[in-house]
Amino acid sequence: MVKLKTLLREYSNPLEWSAGTKAALLLCFTLIVHTQYFLWAYYQLSPYAPETNQHYVNLDFINEYKTHLNCILMLSISFFGLVLWLRKRYPDSEFHEYLATQYFALTLLYGAYAIGTLSIATGVVIAGAPVVGFILFNRRAVILAFVISLAGHWLISYGTTFGDMPYAPVVQNIQEADGSLSHFWLETMYYFTAPHLIVLTVFAYHVLSRWRQREDEIRQLSLTDPLTQLSNRRSILSSLAREHERSRRHGISFSLLLVDLDHFKKINDTWGHPAGDQVLIETAKVLKASVRQNDYVGRYGGEEFLVVLPDTDFEGAHHLAERCRQHLEGLTIDITGSPSLNITGSIGLFCNMDDYSVSAEQMLHYADEALYKAKKSGRNCIVRYNEASETQSST
Ligand code: GH3
Ligand code: MG
Ligand code: MG
Repeated sequence: MVKLKTLLREYSNPLEWSAGTKAALLLCFTLIVHTQYFLWAYYQLSPYAPETNQHYVNLDFINEYKTHLNCILMLSISFFGLVLWLRKRYPDSEFHEYLATQYFALTLLYGAYAIGTLSIATGVVIAGAPVVGFILFNRRAVILAFVISLAGHWLISYGTTFGDMPYAPVVQNIQEADGSLSHFWLETMYYFTAPHLIVLTVFAYHVLSRWRQREDEIRQLSLTDPLTQLSNRRSILSSLAREHERSRRHGISFSLLLVDLDHFKKINDTWGHPAGDQVLIETAKVLKASVRQNDYVGRYGGEEFLVVLPDTDFEGAHHLAERCRQHLEGLTIDITGSPSLNITGSIGLFCNMDDYSVSAEQMLHYADEALYKAKKSGRNCIVRYNEASETQSST
């Protein structure tokens, strides 16, 4: 059961399959489709087929077709086995892809000749197969298979117009005596079209949703700081820009905290870089836990964190900053090989409640200035920037 789950997880994303696995799957699908064709031919020749079918089908050709399909089935099984065997040694060889796409295209071209090059089943394969093909396989292999089958399709179609070869030789009558389309032919077409339509749709849906999911994961990665799992600099700055725009438009104040760990270099120098990293991870957790759900916390630089507080005035921001400062002060970090570490942080605060015209960059600059003052005032404290009276300090 566990093995099956692991297997399913491993194979659930077709975009990550090896060339050999993709080719084996296409050969398997080719085998299934031709088995379906074979069963149809077998049924038409069997005593179970209604006698009326004889009015529509060309039994001589179907007899021949069945023998050819027999060969195609044998060949499909052989190629499938070959690719399964080779893919263990050469999982990413282009050979698999060229073999599978060419074989798929050529055998289906024969199928198109038998049931009609202008039939809906042929149309679905010609339009749908390259789409899935381009997503999954080497583009050159798909283009080659596509060009060859289009050329073949064109030759067969024109051949049938000049009377050099019959059109859709599996049937002899597509229409009824009164000129209407026969039910038999319509249902035969649905039968031949269904597997292609179902597989193409399900596959395209699955691949595209995995694609979207992968894109979301990559987007998430590009916005996350890998060490602390907080928003990275780009992401927190874009939150700041968004909040600034909202604040300017609606006239609601918001605040910034710039938090910098005190004497962090000493931790690195004394206990090593991994210990410093651990401190950063714990700091991130504490900051995240100290603010409200709608606040944004990001890693602005090495040991500097930026907190954006929407809809928050000076007093509110100061209250939150004090909570962050106290939580950092109370934090005890256990690191193997060193005694428990304690840290403190200095915080620069800016709120735009007095002037909504201050730009986001300017706000950052003011918060940074306030932080600088906090460092100068002895660290482990909060300094709020106030344009009117320069900066105000408090602990
Ligand atoms: P101050 O109290 O004035 O802020 O002193 P400080 O030592 O904290 O500041 P300083 O800017 O001198 O040192 C910051 C250090 O942070 C230097 C750098 O090696 C370290 N640092 C930056 N990024 C990382 C990181 O990802 N991991 C670790 N372990 N250290 C980092
Ligand atoms: Mg520092
Ligand atoms: Mg710093």
